[in-house]
Amino acid sequence: MGLLEGKKGIIFGVANQKSIAWAIAQKLAGEGMELAFTYAGEAFKGRVEPLAESLGSELVLPCDVTKDEEMDAVFAEVEKKWGGVDTVVHAIAFANKDELKGEYLDTSREGFALALDVSAYSLVALAKRAAPLMEGRGGSIITMTYYGSEKVVPNYNVMGVAKAALETSVRYLASDLGPRGVRINSISAGPVKTLAAMGISGFKSILKQVEEKAPLRRNITTDDVAGTALYLASDLASGVTGENIHVDSGFSVMGL
Ligand code: NAD
Repeated sequence: MGLLEGKKGIIFGVANQKSIAWAIAQKLAGEGMELAFTYAGEAFKGRVEPLAESLGSELVLPCDVTKDEEMDAVFAEVEKKWGGVDTVVHAIAFANKDELKGEYLDTSREGFALALDVSAYSLVALAKRAAPLMEGRGGSIITMTYYGSEKVVPNYNVMGVAKAALETSVRYLASDLGPRGVRINSISAGPVKTLAAMGISGFKSILKQVEEKAPLRRNITTDDVAGTALYLASDLASGVTGENIHVDSGFSVMGL
């Protein structure tokens, strides 16, 4: 019997087969979790539907996190079909390409607001809607962050600031949700080549540096991240909330 047999989860953030969210979905489904998927806009529908179908998922719903009504509809559908939910995976981030190169000093007001809205506020918005459906089930919310929130990573710019807001939101949300038995944690993943990552100027050089300097001397895979997500979704992590777990080949522990 799988670790997650009988449990239900919603995966936000699959764009394609390279997405971190897709690796997590496969891992959770492999341990018996039944999944619902969302996609951000019609352009992604055709990619997400066949992936969801391959895991036997019956719920595939539109959800652009800048639209309250789409988030409401996802949780209404889930409540109707399942009556509750055990795990929410938030693997969503966005910033305009122009903000992910050059100096942070040049960040525009609109670019700042958009990056923070999609990449950080969306976690609060989803947690607010998920919490009532998780009560009494020992729910787990998992989000994805990156080391660029802690230290300056060239070109990461406003996304680093958004990830700092996201990580701090995890701690505040852990405090709010803990009394209801709901846990929330983030995974700080090392760089991995996905659609979102390709928007960051100089991304290949980040990958090269990790391979050279990280204790494990290799870049991580999405499967590495998925293993930690499985732990956080399962009862193995029943006492863990408000945490940020680095899955980065150890890169973040190095000083020089
Ligand atoms: P990805 O491009 O596969 O996933 C990003 C997802 O965000 C996509 O599915 C996209 O549709 C979704 N998204 C963007 N705007 C949205 C909106 N308005 N509403 C709803 N969804 C929206 O890339 P990924 O690397 O798998 O990214 C997943 C998460 O992992 C992100 O939070 C990212 O910052 C984080 N992360 C990535 C890396 C990396 O190197 N790839 C490292 C650490 C953390």
